[in-house]
Amino acid sequence: MYRNFPPPGAACPSTFPKLIVFGVAAVFASGAWGQTAAEGDFAARCAALGGSSGKTPANTRETVELARFIPAGAPAKDLAPSRPLEPGVQIPAHCELIGRLDERTGADGQPYAIRYHLRLPQDWNGGFFFQGGGGTNGDLGDALGNAGGSLPPVGLALGYAVLSQDSGHDNARNDIPERGGRASFGADAEARANYAHASLARTSGAAKKIIARFYGNAARRSYFVGCSKGGQEGMALAQKYPREFDGIIAAAPAFSVPRAALAQAWDVQTFAALVRDPRAASVDQRKLPAAFSNADLATVNKAVLRACDADDGLADGIVGAFEQCTTAKVKAQLDRSTCTGEKSASCLSKPQVAALLRSMEGPRGRNGEALYTSWHWDGGIGSTGWRRWKLGDSEGPIPALNVVTGGSALAMLFSVPPTPVRSDPQSLLDYQMGFDMSRDANIIYATSDAFPRSSWDEINARSPGLATFRARGGKMIVPHGVSDPVFSIRDTLDWYREVNQRHEGRAADFVRVFPVPGMAHCSRGPATDRYNAFAALVEWVERGDAPEAIIAQAGPGTPWPGRTRPLCPYPQVARYSGSGDKERAESFVCSDPKR
Ligand code: CA
Repeated sequence: MYRNFPPPGAACPSTFPKLIVFGVAAVFASGAWGQTAAEGDFAARCAALGGSSGKTPANTRETVELARFIPAGAPAKDLAPSRPLEPGVQIPAHCELIGRLDERTGADGQPYAIRYHLRLPQDWNGGFFFQGGGGTNGDLGDALGNAGGSLPPVGLALGYAVLSQDSGHDNARNDIPERGGRASFGADAEARANYAHASLARTSGAAKKIIARFYGNAARRSYFVGCSKGGQEGMALAQKYPREFDGIIAAAPAFSVPRAALAQAWDVQTFAALVRDPRAASVDQRKLPAAFSNADLATVNKAVLRACDADDGLADGIVGAFEQCTTAKVKAQLDRSTCTGEKSASCLSKPQVAALLRSMEGPRGRNGEALYTSWHWDGGIGSTGWRRWKLGDSEGPIPALNVVTGGSALAMLFSVPPTPVRSDPQSLLDYQMGFDMSRDANIIYATSDAFPRSSWDEINARSPGLATFRARGGKMIVPHGVSDPVFSIRDTLDWYREVNQRHEGRAADFVRVFPVPGMAHCSRGPATDRYNAFAALVEWVERGDAPEAIIAQAGPGTPWPGRTRPLCPYPQVARYSGSGDKERAESFVCSDPKR
């Protein structure tokens, strides 16, 4: 996504004047297209954001790399969107700003800075929209205002000033293959802290100052929107910096990510055992996807649906009442699907069923204690978005994300001391296979002189203490796929119950969790994964209109494109009302589940 700019590795102070010239050139180019006087004035003020900082830096810890005017309707190549812009999304005239903060050399000898990307629309709606990160970050982000799920970006198009940031390390230069690749920044304690949460307050504060200076008014409202690591960031803001944001979407939050990384290693060990060649010293990572064929996973999925689909009042391929979908009920159906003789495409082997049950139970320690949590049975178990994490793609060379993402993160980011492991899939799988849950799991809670805070203490954002966020009127929406294969919705629901307990049973006054049945991690799966949680959040914050349901639609990749359903605030579930079109949300009501 950097193809329009000099590579970030080249973004040292000596390249700074060249970038400013580039920005000014863009101003003149847009003028040649027929710029109005108002646009010309805005473009000049935009360029000045770069120029003034460059000539007389008030603070050498803050550097502007790029300030340029982008006219309305600019082509996608000038925007470098991280996902395709759908037809009809109008990107308005705006000022694009890229800068960096706190440049330094880390304890591990690597160069670090916190880079941010800010887009300031000419026709500003008075709001601030912070777009969260993903995975191990290190990516500047497109700052177009992604609202999560399968929606096109909305923030900038609605007139918000939009911020994204790399959280203090850069995949283009902090990527050392023999030390965890893009997770190599885990060797530096400050880089870990920035990744965990510190960069959020730093870039948010800097952006708010720029916004106030640029427009002459502070932002009227501030929103944060993120999923996965971005969901963890939303949680960290509500808990550690509770005055910064009025509204937060913290989808599929990675708020227990060191524990989830233990679950990833557990899953790799569990499924790799199915494809282990007893004569070989290690498991070939390329064989992991073969632990279950797609036909095997379809058999698993059918068993889940037979057990639980109708519990919400309608057998429609969606397990609405997922909390009633117990392991006992599903196991009875899996037993019915187990081969009685030779393994065939239409039945599961006994070791496959045992492995699936072991995975769903979650990682266990020396005395059988849960090291993370268990997983809910749901209609998205076995879907493409699920298998991509747990097993890898059945066709093609994509290794399991549990290996390539989970292995390097556990080794470099969530261990004290960090364990340098090569970043190729085979080395990471070997590391996970050698990870002994009884012996090694405590590394996520360990400290040392170089790392006085454990990785758990640094990055977890699972506290139920939201009193300050609540008191300042903050509102939070937490969508989460019930079939999320990375962060178990059970952890999120346990957290929500703790929040409710801490806040006199009034959690729903300021935070609501919206389970999305069938959905994998942030999107995908046999699910209604197209929904506008951001619009619901704005209604709640600005009009006090708490979301009683969020209408969601199934996309083209699902068995039922165009189907709509209400997403219901936990613990309610969507139940068929008994009459009306079974494909339409209007025929469903959010109601308390049968216990
Ligand atoms: Ca159903």
